[in-house]
Amino acid sequence: MSVKQVAILGSTGSIGINTLDVIRSHPDRFNVVALTAAKQVDLLAEQCDEFRPAIAVVADADGALRLSKLLLEKKIQTQVLYGPDALVTAVTNSDCDTVMAAIVGAAGLVPALAAANVGKRVLLANKEALVMSGNLFMQAMKSGGGELLPIDSEHNAIFQCLPNDFTKAPHAHLGVEELWLTASGGPFRNTPLDQLASITPEQACAHPNWVMGRKISVDSATMMNKGLEVIEAFWLFGLPLEKIKVLIHPQSVVHSMVRYRDGSVLAQMGQPDMRTPIAYGLAWPERIEAGVAPLNLAQLASLNFSEPELARFPCLSLAFAAAKAGGTAPAVLNAANEVAVAAFLDSGLPYLQIASLVERVLNAIPVSSADSLETILSVDTQARKVAQDFIAALYK
Ligand code: NAD
Ligand code: MG
Repeated sequence: MSVKQVAILGSTGSIGINTLDVIRSHPDRFNVVALTAAKQVDLLAEQCDEFRPAIAVVADADGALRLSKLLLEKKIQTQVLYGPDALVTAVTNSDCDTVMAAIVGAAGLVPALAAANVGKRVLLANKEALVMSGNLFMQAMKSGGGELLPIDSEHNAIFQCLPNDFTKAPHAHLGVEELWLTASGGPFRNTPLDQLASITPEQACAHPNWVMGRKISVDSATMMNKGLEVIEAFWLFGLPLEKIKVLIHPQSVVHSMVRYRDGSVLAQMGQPDMRTPIAYGLAWPERIEAGVAPLNLAQLASLNFSEPELARFPCLSLAFAAAKAGGTAPAVLNAANEVAVAAFLDSGLPYLQIASLVERVLNAIPVSSADSLETILSVDTQARKVAQDFIAALYK
């Protein structure tokens, strides 16, 4: 068994920390060669101390200086780099064969695309990258010749429930009829609609089943997360949009399902613990210990399923509309949502304004074809500017 050389983009985040936790128990299988973070220099220094990567990357020069000092004190040889280009260097110059793409948001697109282009095994957590650049990213994976393993729990579940050769034959030949993405419904599944206006960031980040970064926690509360995941599934699995369905499943035990022509429905179940899909991606096609507690179905007793209420979750409808419009629309949706969620978390934008803002930005920017990285990045910048202008106007 050859040791896998792993680069982790976003190692200080929720997915990054869980990835290192799985790797920690398998020193015979995995070696960490690059770690990256935005601002959490102290944690990154601790991770470098434990895993001794060849390269560590932070967002800016100040952070790089602080990290270099911390590493020097401990006589750690890791090379310290900073800035967006260094994230690509961490992928291309670290001798990694496996890249965990776990930066949150559009910031993760360019290094994830770089990993795809040069044929790495890409463990994709950063769904925003695929939402923005689905076509380009899937083409890059194909021409790079690497393996794409979905880490998002729903997509990992579907990957596990599809036939092994699903990328090689048309779905119709394999009898795949529909993909069912499950969704917990987040913390406001049953909150009276007239109380949604006063939701605080703390309430939105308190997810009932999963512990995650703040941005994805808010996305789960609005169900924009599931909308992004529908687009993610569309690109990953190549089924028409109308064959990708969303089901509310409050227990988060069935992580998603595939319905086949003969009446079979295959589901992947497990604890709501990201170490399961992470371990699956790291070791695929083998299965390794992930540190996850066994599932006790008798204790759970019941599993519930229902249709999502679209009036409660307008972001879900907006994502379906953007997916249908295609081209640059999903990139606009994503950028507007990132700006809106950041404003909700950090500067008091009311919760219900998240969906309104995304809708206004989608209406303001005409859809064009998303045929190059330049186009996608420029529409991302444009959508952020339009969103900021709308927010500024709200406070005039
Ligand atoms: P997080 O906020 O906990 O961590 C984000 C990581 O990205 C951190 O290491 C941070 O330093 C880094 N980062 C943030 N902005 C950056 C920038 N501008 N430049 C470079 N690095 C930057 O987020 P998370 O919950 O770990 O989620 C990461 C990704 O995985 C997201 O795309 C999310 O949608 C996806 N995901 C997360 C979960 C989960 O359980 N947390 C589940 C499914 C998918
Ligand atoms: Mg998910």
